[in-house]
Amino acid sequence: MGKYAMAIHGGAGTILKKSMTPELEKRYRQALQSALDAGFAILENGGAALEAVKVASVSLEDDPLFNAGKGSVFTAEGINEMDAAIMDGKTLAAGAVAGVRNVRNPVMLAEQVMLHSGHLFLSGKGANEFAVKQGVPLEPDDYFYTQFRYDQLKEIMGSDDYVLDHSGDTIEKKFGTIGAVACDKEGNIAAATSTGGMTNKQYGRIGDSPVIGAGTYANNKTCAISCTGHGEPFLRAVVAYDVSCLMEYKNMSLLAACEEVVLKKLVTINGEGGLIGVDAQGNTALVFNCEGMYRGIKSSDGTECVSIYKEDTK
Ligand code: ASP
Repeated sequence: MGKYAMAIHGGAGTILKKSMTPELEKRYRQALQSALDAGFAILENGGAALEAVKVASVSLEDDPLFNAGKGSVFTAEGINEMDAAIMDGKTLAAGAVAGVRNVRNPVMLAEQVMLHSGHLFLSGKGANEFAVKQGVPLEPDDYFYTQFRYDQLKEIMGSDDYVLDHSGDTIEKKFGTIGAVACDKEGNIAAATSTGGMTNKQYGRIGDSPVIGAGTYANNKTCAISCTGHGEPFLRAVVAYDVSCLMEYKNMSLLAACEEVVLKKLVTINGEGGLIGVDAQGNTALVFNCEGMYRGIKSSDGTECVSIYKEDTK
């Protein structure tokens, strides 16, 4: 039995200590800790990495603090359209959904697509109909209503701008999204990502999160990756698969490959954000090129931390 480990994120962006209250910071830390604990408990009990990333993601999707599931941001029409993906590094099986509405846990729907649709990626109405068929829990519109998110939309409604999540003083640099990666006792790895996307996004816009190879990827031979940041450059840089390729074809370590893509390649195309990664030896990497990223790791070697700001050591 090798080392097993879990890493999660709750979005990256302009997260400055000066714009955070102690109460809010405490709530973020608690929410991250409980998602981490829930996923890690699965690994500890001999469960699969795939199950661990799903459980940790559902915990974050159910918390209105994060831009996924319940806390999803609003589109320009004042509705919530969510994207999610999950991937199993052992089999390379994957499932993804885009532009789904009223689905309580889009990551669970992505898993259903992987297991039962015969397809990999479903979008919009078709994905919603599949959710009904599979009995995935649905919620009314007001379940997804949070005053904070609606105020974010009102700030820019009517303009052509769209913004990423996580408020600072400026609205230009905000990212949301949640994600989880895990390595289980058998050395199998998996990744999941879920998001409401960007406030005031255009109807039908799809970001990197549900796109296999861009925002989400897992392969036992290399790594499991979940990204968060400005989706368009992340799509162009094919971020998650690029990390995997650097490991596979250039023999880079997980950390070196993540740094190459996030701190060099993405920076040249103004792609702000970050990612979490794990390899089949249970090594983890948390790398971002902006002010902060809600994040955490827990490993069987005793490493455990929940962090928010750049200054935090992990
Ligand atoms: N990457 C997500 C998107 O572009 C947003 C985020 O990570 O905050 O939809």
